[in-house]
Amino acid sequence: MTRQPFTVNGREYRPPAEPVIVICIDGSEPAYHELALAAGRMPWLAKASPDGFSDWPAHSAMPALTNPNNVSIATGRPPRDHGISGNYILDPDSGEEVLMNDKAFLRIPTIFAAATAAGHDVAVVTAKDKLRRLLGAGLVESGPALDGGATFVEPTRRGICFSAEKADQATVADNGIGDVLVYVGRPVPPVYSADLSEFVLAAGVKLLDDRRPDLMFLSLTDYIQHKHAPGTAVANDFYAMIDNYAGQLDALGAVVVITADHGMSAKSDPVGRPRVIYVEEETNRLLATGAARVILPITDPYTVHHGALGSFASVYLPAGADPAVVGSALARFEGVQAVHTRADAADRYALPADRIGDLVVLADKGYALGRYPAWHDLGQLDAPLRSHGALGELNIPFLINRRLDRPDDLDQDIAEPACVHNYDAFWVATTGLTGGRND
Ligand SMILES: [Zn+2]
Repeated sequence: MTRQPFTVNGREYRPPAEPVIVICIDGSEPAYHELALAAGRMPWLAKASPDGFSDWPAHSAMPALTNPNNVSIATGRPPRDHGISGNYILDPDSGEEVLMNDKAFLRIPTIFAAATAAGHDVAVVTAKDKLRRLLGAGLVESGPALDGGATFVEPTRRGICFSAEKADQATVADNGIGDVLVYVGRPVPPVYSADLSEFVLAAGVKLLDDRRPDLMFLSLTDYIQHKHAPGTAVANDFYAMIDNYAGQLDALGAVVVITADHGMSAKSDPVGRPRVIYVEEETNRLLATGAARVILPITDPYTVHHGALGSFASVYLPAGADPAVVGSALARFEGVQAVHTRADAADRYALPADRIGDLVVLADKGYALGRYPAWHDLGQLDAPLRSHGALGELNIPFLINRRLDRPDDLDQDIAEPACVHNYDAFWVATTGLTGGRND
């Protein structure tokens, strides 16, 4: 069976005859599936298809946050290219924080848009609605032009893109599918729940069985991982649930890739108090002039489980402040892993230089970064802080239900000259699987 190859963002994608499904388990530190597997809770993964599976060490893109990495998986490129560096940036002209959840900030087309234009049927289901318009650009609504131009264009064909969070509001006109609750046979799940992820997977099984899309992306939420450590009963139950649905997708004949947007680290002291460095407060203490501004790109409307505390901070300095001097002072704080100037951070971590601060501060695995104490409502945290954002949370799973040779043509990473990234998922499961052949 011949499938139409397509090229987007510098790579050729050659889909196999089987449907290709990428599951992004939000916040999936590898220990979660490893310990669930060891506890016998992931029987499908334990045998993973008749022919075995591939399991490669892999990294998320920086920052190790949800939107930048989901968009990386969707575009096949790091944030340097697609432009989504977090949930917020500072508008240098107005001095205001700007929410970057809107697709208008996307700089390149998605794999989904290119696949759709090439005649493939594409379905995207995301847990939280905050990702829907970024992932649906060019698929069910206008998105960046496929020729790389800066203009937005309407999709040439239509796929499916909806969120579990607003599944009751999906319509054929806006999402390519309506009556989703009846279709999936489940009620709208609460936004802070394991059910939100289960809804996504149940929808994926239904879509595969019923419609058999050529490419499907299923993106979960890290509600469980923010609260529960790997190997705990709740975490193992969650991974058992994922294993069950992944097994159903496998049984229906799909190529299934399991990866994540980022890992997850405990960031509290032994008595459960968050270990936080308040970067804006400390920077203003260092500067005689004050007026430094910190943007925490993890900040979003869903802060109940992390209090907007992550491992990555952008520092915008007032005119006249020397980034090198401030940076070396901040680097001496306990819990600060690294401080980079804008150009250095952009170069080292493949970030968009115009959408990060004058300085980028990274926390150690066991620490989090804040602005100043009063800005964070830590009273909302109902479990010891677990969060993500930087180098301590780069490790993620990359599992495929096929035996494949690891490709060599991979991006360089801070850790290795060629590293598998989550954003290689659709490429590996299409072109990597077919060996570049189109049979
Ligand atoms: Zn995430």
